[in-house]
Amino acid sequence: MKKFMSEFKEFALKGNVMDMAIGVIIGAAFGNIVTALTDCFIQPIIALIGGTEVHGTIPLGNSGQALDYGTFLTAVINFIIMALILFCIIKATNKLMELGKKPEPKAAPTTKKCPYCLSEIPIEATKCAHCTSDLPKA
Ligand SMILES: [Zn+2]
Repeated sequence: MKKFMSEFKEFALKGNVMDMAIGVIIGAAFGNIVTALTDCFIQPIIALIGGTEVHGTIPLGNSGQALDYGTFLTAVINFIIMALILFCIIKATNKLMELGKKPEPKAAPTTKKCPYCLSEIPIEATKCAHCTSDLPKA
């Protein structure tokens, strides 16, 4: 039982359990941001570009029940528009991220070619290690 408790303690206090808990909390908060983005920005844009209210039902005989294809089509079209807008936002964000990155600076050369034997030698060398020629200072 003592071993079990110590194992449990090790498990519960493991770094990745805390990381996971934080990840879940951040994830929930991020979900709120996505919902707010949808409600505050994307829905008005959808409404602006003509909205998508499809009305229509197909009555099912005399039962009083009906197939509400209008509501269904509205949901499908709004989903496609939202996916399109989100796709554009993600594409723009990725482009911004790329702009922020600086190209890797090229490493300074550490070797040069001996002008007499064409071997690779250290850039600071004043005498070639291969042909023993005296080299002019670079
Ligand atoms: Zn040489």
